[in-house]
Amino acid sequence: MVCHRCGSSNVNVQAVSVVRNKHHGLFYWLFFGWLIDLLLWIFLTIPRLLIALFGSKRVKTKVHTEAVCQNCGYRWRV
Ligand SMILES: [Zn+2]
Repeated sequence: MVCHRCGSSNVNVQAVSVVRNKHHGLFYWLFFGWLIDLLLWIFLTIPRLLIALFGSKRVKTKVHTEAVCQNCGYRWRV
């Protein structure tokens, strides 16, 4: 594999895990997310169950491979 920027072949390929959360940060869900979930479970048990089953896209961890040039530091997805 060759770097797209500088043309060096000294490229390291690694797996990178990305936590996707479009609405709130990680700390929001750590401190407030559980409370909201609890309230939803109490008042909206059945709809919340369906959301939990089919809409579990709120926090999504996605792993992709990324190549990092050891020469110039340029990184891109493989
Ligand atoms: Zn490079």
